[in-house]
Amino acid sequence: MSTPNEQRAGTPPAPESRHYHELAKERIAGGVNSNVRLSASPICFVSGKGCRLTDVDGNVYIDYALGMGPNILGHAPPAVTGEVSRTLDIGQLFAGQHPLELELANKFCSCVKSAELVRFGLSGSEMVQAAMRVARAYTVRPEVIKFEGHYHGWFDNILINNSGPVADEDDPLPRPHYLQSAGQSPQASADVAVLPWNDFEAIDRYVSANASKIAAIITEPVMLNTGGILPKQDYLQHLRRVTKAHNIVLIFDEVITGFRVALGGAQELYDVEPDLSVFAKALGAGFPVSALAGRREIMELFADGRVNHSGTYNANLVSISAALAGLRELSADNQAAYKRLNALGGTLMEGIAAAARQYGADLQISGLPSAFHTCFASHPIHDYTSYSRADHNRLGLFLAALLEGGVRPTGRGTWFVSTAHTNSDIASTLEAVGQALKRCV
Ligand code: PMP
Repeated sequence: MSTPNEQRAGTPPAPESRHYHELAKERIAGGVNSNVRLSASPICFVSGKGCRLTDVDGNVYIDYALGMGPNILGHAPPAVTGEVSRTLDIGQLFAGQHPLELELANKFCSCVKSAELVRFGLSGSEMVQAAMRVARAYTVRPEVIKFEGHYHGWFDNILINNSGPVADEDDPLPRPHYLQSAGQSPQASADVAVLPWNDFEAIDRYVSANASKIAAIITEPVMLNTGGILPKQDYLQHLRRVTKAHNIVLIFDEVITGFRVALGGAQELYDVEPDLSVFAKALGAGFPVSALAGRREIMELFADGRVNHSGTYNANLVSISAALAGLRELSADNQAAYKRLNALGGTLMEGIAAAARQYGADLQISGLPSAFHTCFASHPIHDYTSYSRADHNRLGLFLAALLEGGVRPTGRGTWFVSTAHTNSDIASTLEAVGQALKRCV
């Protein structure tokens, strides 16, 4: 039994952060407001601007966590904060509509090819719920297939098999359920079947025997919640073919990849059109907004009220104006933002690989330039099980050393790049990478 996502990064000299954390633990459960932060270094930040964060001790970090992905334009991007400030005076919530909602919907659907209709919400977790519900209603079937190592939010019915324990490669299909939280209802996920990802044979075998009960397959198009694992050649297309053949709804969870790996998401990059997709993170450029979008025929089930999707704060003006400003920035100048992200991220990935060669480290760099992952392993990693055999202790040491050197990837070894990073930031980062690697070979 292993827990591949739970390496803990170290803490640079930070007495004030530690002091804050001790006080916070007296009032806030665990001193944090998301369990994901329990396993990260307990740093208390005072501000973020561009690609830099400053903590209460005055340490400055080049940030590649970017709020776990959302801050694709960097921290406090003026184009977004300016737009949000302008809307603050016109109100926040009307329990009714505002013209900016339609403006955002039009902009959104012009970016994402599969989006005929859209609904906005606040978090990725809740939109995954809406996606599964509408898929079940549309197909009138009960079951959803999810994959090992994929994370689709923290709700009872889907929080299974996304981090340890790891099933054996020869365990039966579907995999036994591993609930991820005390207090989680085992019944809530009774209608979810867990399969290994990137495995053509597993999906063929399971679907052909069970198609009549399967409503949906939900997948991260690039596995970024466990390592940074790309889909095998033709795998996403294969999922599309299998789901089409059996009238199963294909759901892409693009909470991380959406508006990050391309303006049209991973579905644009890999040229696959899912029936439904979920977006959050980069969509709001740091502000809370999410979306479920897809085929009109399915999304129409929300329109006449047959399928419930609700939320007091949905489409509040702060979120909507932030997303609109963010999408304008990302699509401006013929999508120059993505050329920049890919160039910066590509240089960073190549530089880290070169440093690993220089120091003889078995560091693997995988993923896409705007979102990639580093881990220590000398075997090929293509799925959850193979990722679990990476050297997680050494990754923890590497991340701790980076943090001390003023570079902050996420606590699980994922690196997100923003348009606010510069070549000079990348050069400074690579220096810190070299120093950190020296300490972990
Ligand atoms: N899906 C994926 C792929 C995610 O990475 C996440 C969050 N990391 C979620 C869903 C849940 O999103 P949220 O944290 O906004 O609820």
